[in-house]
Amino acid sequence: MLGLMMAEPLRVATIIEHAAKWHSATEIVSRLPEGGIHRYTYADANRRSRQLAQALLKLGIENGDRVGTLAWNTHRHFELYFGVAGIGAVCHTINPRLFPEQLVYIINHAEDRLLFFDLTFLPLVERLAPVCPTVEKWVLLARPEHLPAQSALPGLCSYEELLAAETGDYAWPSFDENTACSLCYTSGTTDQPKGVLYSHRSTLLHALGISLPDSLGCSALDVIMPVVPMFHVNAWGLPYAAPLTGAKLVLPGAGMDSASLYELMETEGVTFSAGVPTIWLALLQFMRDGQRQFRTLRRTVVGGSSCPPALMRAFEDELHVTITHAWGMTETSPLGTAGRLKANQLSLSPEEKADVLAKQGRAVFGVDMKIVGDDGQELPHDGVAFGDLLVRGPWVVREYFRTPTPGELTADGWFRTGDVATIDADGFMQITDRSKDVIKSGGEWISSIDLENLAVSHPAVAEAAVIGVPSARWSERPLLVVVRRPGMDVSREEMLGFFRGKVAKFWEPDAVEFVDALPHTATGKLLKTQLRKDFAGYSVA
Ligand code: ADP
Repeated sequence: MLGLMMAEPLRVATIIEHAAKWHSATEIVSRLPEGGIHRYTYADANRRSRQLAQALLKLGIENGDRVGTLAWNTHRHFELYFGVAGIGAVCHTINPRLFPEQLVYIINHAEDRLLFFDLTFLPLVERLAPVCPTVEKWVLLARPEHLPAQSALPGLCSYEELLAAETGDYAWPSFDENTACSLCYTSGTTDQPKGVLYSHRSTLLHALGISLPDSLGCSALDVIMPVVPMFHVNAWGLPYAAPLTGAKLVLPGAGMDSASLYELMETEGVTFSAGVPTIWLALLQFMRDGQRQFRTLRRTVVGGSSCPPALMRAFEDELHVTITHAWGMTETSPLGTAGRLKANQLSLSPEEKADVLAKQGRAVFGVDMKIVGDDGQELPHDGVAFGDLLVRGPWVVREYFRTPTPGELTADGWFRTGDVATIDADGFMQITDRSKDVIKSGGEWISSIDLENLAVSHPAVAEAAVIGVPSARWSERPLLVVVRRPGMDVSREEMLGFFRGKVAKFWEPDAVEFVDALPHTATGKLLKTQLRKDFAGYSVA
């Protein structure tokens, strides 16, 4: 027997409709890539998203067509999220930091019909256009006066002139909630990027999931600034969760440097933010250098890479900002786990609490997880046993877009994350490594993440990476690669000695090398494949 409730399909346009109706005066503030601050309300955003929808229909965009974006976090990008998806087309957010060959691959693979780009990316798209034949029209996300005097870009026009031709008198259509709404490619650290095609249903459920208080926690009292880019897994869902909960949204545009972020946080009263560890490491230094404090910021979510416990401690103690450590991936929309204490943990000592919160956190409703050994058997939740992390749920990928990848799912339907983790008795998951980065020494596993976290707690260390290098006796041994803080020195002996007594003897790195910079992926993660190449042939004594 079926239930007798309204069969209202879950669609993302209902989020912006809700915000426009019930939080109509709440603001979206953006720093524009072409300069200046833009300020308007959810009611304005809904009207302009509908104008965009009308313009897209006029351009012949149909259900399922892909519309690409090369854009920063701004109100126009926000309108694209809703305008494109709202008509049943697919908003394909492209990471401009990828190599040009990867961008060409992605645009051609997705067969984007239109491409909307920020002024910053004009030189880039002029190089891409001749080798991206599916793109019929390139749209500059700016006013017409910013259009170049001359350009060979097919159909080039400005976003504002497209919108100006429409009334906004448009009703969002209804359709199956499993319709695709956005597309995001993984950063392809190991092979070609793969597309993850989100549906209206998965996106809406994920937005509800991240809004829960023990997950990222969003409310109408918040002023949310996603520092994670809107081309990086939909800014972790915050551009949906903010209008869904009625939070004010602050979009930092291309200004991802500490001074610009801090200025916007202070002037707009940001209470809650989110981004990868590198952003917060830089901001911490900036705050310390100027002996600054935040007026309103109280919480931030850190994920994408392991958050060093030293960073969490410094934010809490020096800046009175609580970091929530979260884990996820493009394939999980991205939120999988978030680290918030449970009632039984409130009586723990401050050090014990810090240890719990340094883990990647517990499963958010909507994502089930388990760890399995090499034989596929589930491992116990004792915080010690570690194995491959598997997940499943309504916002986890089932298959990649037009890229059959056998073996991604287990026979019984779990997605293999490629991460290795423990789960403790309270359900807190801790990533020990990516399966490709685990160091295997004498048959035992060494967590490169633990060693990196320890290394960056040394005052002279700005960034650190640990990779396995061949060893005749142990098969692999850890090599520590360190970037020193400007003006600070530390010797090899001191650096290696720093680990003594803090980790098991056999975990201590055998060697350390100092470098000026470490290689990163387009999403700011350590690019260990490159590091392994750089140190190929390295041998430890
Ligand atoms: P890609 O897989 O293309 O590099 P993703 O952004 O999807 O890009 O990265 C997902 C991966 O990032 C996870 O599988 C995990 O290895 C790593 N990751 C994400 N969050 C964390 C975290 N909090 N701690 C450790 N690793 C993390």
